[in-house]
Amino acid sequence: MLGGTTEASRLAQTLAVAGRDAVFSYAGRTNRPALQPLPQRQGGFGGVAGLVAYLKAEAISHVVDATHPFAAQMSAHAVRACAEAGVALAAFERAPWQMQDGDIWLRVPDMAGAVAALPRRAARVFLAIGKQNLEVFAACPQHHYLLRLVDAPEVPLPLPLNTVVVARGPFDAGSDKRLMQDHAITHVVAKNAGGTGAEAKLIAARELALPIVMIDRPWVPERRILTRVEEVMAWLEHC
Ligand code: NAP
Repeated sequence: MLGGTTEASRLAQTLAVAGRDAVFSYAGRTNRPALQPLPQRQGGFGGVAGLVAYLKAEAISHVVDATHPFAAQMSAHAVRACAEAGVALAAFERAPWQMQDGDIWLRVPDMAGAVAALPRRAARVFLAIGKQNLEVFAACPQHHYLLRLVDAPEVPLPLPLNTVVVARGPFDAGSDKRLMQDHAITHVVAKNAGGTGAEAKLIAARELALPIVMIDRPWVPERRILTRVEEVMAWLEHC
């Protein structure tokens, strides 16, 4: 199981309770990844070839890709490696968020689009995209950026005006609303992850009538998509 999301951890719980022989794989991006009720491994496999070798060495029969929808490289590697190794693959994927009444969304296709969608005048931006891709926003140094990161940054950030809050999700709408008010946020930038783990900021922004620059998901090669834990369990049983 390729993990790294709230939903992946939920699925791991069900697999463990069902006594499934499974291993949970983390990329190793955070210092203290959440402990899983399954055996864990950590770190990249070494590209497609490395993943093929791993699948064969461990006699893996099924791969569940429960990575974040923006982890497009890992997902693409999983499609290629499973095809090559003859291993069944399914993605455990949450549906993207949809706009609701009261939402003010500016939909953009990628990070560059998000930078371009911010105003020219100085704004106070809740940049809710994790620690990757921050350098793209250095093109707009006039904004003050609020970052929420799992670990305190170990190197200086490429954004001259920033505040870092260290916290790990899932978050709730009430505290996200307070966070945005406390930092006088005027704009939110978010990836359309879907799911419940990171939804609180959308609810908070809606209640505060703040615009969200919403980045669409990257393209991933076609694969079987399962959206519910029960579907994954049935697939493991029958395929
Ligand atoms: P990525 O760009 O798609 O992957 C880059 C490389 O990291 C992969 O080629 C692979 O290295 C390794 N990798 C990624 N996920 C892995 C996993 N679960 N187990 C083992 N190796 C993995 O991925 P990313 O966007 O950096 O995300 C990394 C992890 O953070 C993922 O597990 C994802 O679920 C989680 N995450 C990502 C985001 C996000 O916004 N991107 C948000 C929340 C959580 P090799 O090529 O060497 O195998």
